Amino acid sequence: MSPQPHETTHDVVIVGAGIMGCALAVAFGNQGRRVLVLERDLSEPDRIVGELLQPGGVEALEKLGMRDCLEDIDAIPVYGYETIYHGEPVTIPYPWTSAGKKAEGRAFHHGKFVQKLRAAARRTPNVTLLEATAKDILRDEASLQVLGVLATEKSSKTTHTYRGKLTVSADGYASNFRKRCTTRKPVVRSTFVGLQLIDVKLPSPNHGHIIMGNNPPVLLYQIGTHETRALVDMPSLPPSGQLKPYLLEIVAPDLPAQVQPAFRKAVEAADRLPSMPNSFLPAQANDTPGMILLGDAMNMRHPLTGGGMTVAFNDAYLLSHLLSPSIVPDFADTTAVLEQMRLFHWDRKSLSGVVNILAQALYALFAADDSRLRVLQMGCFIGHAGQPVGGLDGLRKAGWTWFQLAGGRQRRHIHQCARLVRADLVQEHWRVVSHDDVPVVWAGEASRR
Ligand SMILES: Cc1cc2nc3c(=O)[nH]c(=O)nc-3n(C[C@H](O)[C@H](O)[C@H](O)COP(=O)(O)OP(=O)(O)OC[C@H]3O[C@@H](n4cnc5c(N)ncnc54)[C@H](O)[C@@H]3O)c2cc1C
Repeated sequence: MSPQPHETTHDVVIVGAGIMGCALAVAFGNQGRRVLVLERDLSEPDRIVGELLQPGGVEALEKLGMRDCLEDIDAIPVYGYETIYHGEPVTIPYPWTSAGKKAEGRAFHHGKFVQKLRAAARRTPNVTLLEATAKDILRDEASLQVLGVLATEKSSKTTHTYRGKLTVSADGYASNFRKRCTTRKPVVRSTFVGLQLIDVKLPSPNHGHIIMGNNPPVLLYQIGTHETRALVDMPSLPPSGQLKPYLLEIVAPDLPAQVQPAFRKAVEAADRLPSMPNSFLPAQANDTPGMILLGDAMNMRHPLTGGGMTVAFNDAYLLSHLLSPSIVPDFADTTAVLEQMRLFHWDRKSLSGVVNILAQALYALFAADDSRLRVLQMGCFIGHAGQPVGGLDGLRKAGWTWFQLAGGRQRRHIHQCARLVRADLVQEHWRVVSHDDVPVVWAGEASRR
């Protein structure tokens, strides 16, 4: 690939105009940085990801000055979760805000929301959006400093060099550039198969639903006036031709009765059932001169608890403050940028730690794949009292993070099982303690420097 003589130079080149790329472009542009965003496809995405934004994400959007992106997209207000365990409902409301209002999340079509974010980036001063696919990194081989990217423009099909004092890889879960900055690789825990149900009345309107029965969990949430998303968790995909029968014969009977007809109809009508891998990728501190990984390229957690966009918007806000012109006047000052990136790695954990641990720990529990986890799961949902899960809202920020699952009738059994429990990736984070003889499961991560 030979780059054309044509070259541009910006303060920042961002690869990817998705959730993270757009938010960061707006934040940096408003600070007077010259920003170029390269996006391989600027048409409205049609994806089954990023459709429920937690209150903590709405709050971060507001701080970024982008709250209006939630308007005029037929978004549905969300006030908490309804978990349905073998037909038994357990409501998990979001908390009240300090202003005395119910915390509110929003659910929507991902594509409509992303187009709003892109429009916000386009009208921000100093920001340029270009439809181009980043193909490679431009690097000074002596110093290993990243100098920008080589990208092919969609309209002209020509490849150019786009130089940036800083290059941001916000190119999502299948990032091309991740391996340039980290040795970590995503671990796929399961796959979500997505369906769009039409005109369903959910048992608890304006709530995300998590259905647990004899099989891995199913998520249901309304994303538009007429549309409801169903995400069916599958630890592994069945052989070709077996997916539809599995959904109709095994999954459908576990769903609330009022949802089943629309679910069956959607399965039968689908030519192709979209699916996405559900990955876990812990973040690694960034030490690549001239380049930063962000969003799903840097850090992923199971989407069961819908936390990815909340983490991304909070990261964009935090990073724009740590790299603000008053602290780092010129992004060419690589030493200063790397110093701030070290702070970013630790400061972001107060929120991302809560979201990530909660997602991984709850997934291990909800998809319980051994008998001891299933007993723990049962104890958490049967005859429980009080608030069963804290932290789903993405509002909580702390050095130690927790969720608590108040046990019911099965107390002694839960204690025994919890000691034996195998929670894979989150094992080191789990603790079971007693409060007034009620077993409570805590997940925590120490904030260390
Ligand atoms: C099944 C599933 C459901 C989910 N549901 C939720 C949910 O309900 N709520 C929630 O908060 N999170 C959810 N998430 C997570 C959320 O979708 C992600 O965390 C979020 O989209 C990450 O944003 P991003 O900007 O890093 O990546 P993306 O939003 O994926 O954006 C990456 C962008 O980069 C572009 N790109 C890629 N490569 C190139 C290239 N070489 N050149 C130019 N452009 C490129 C892509 O076209 C894309 O526009 C879900 C995830 C999954 C897998």
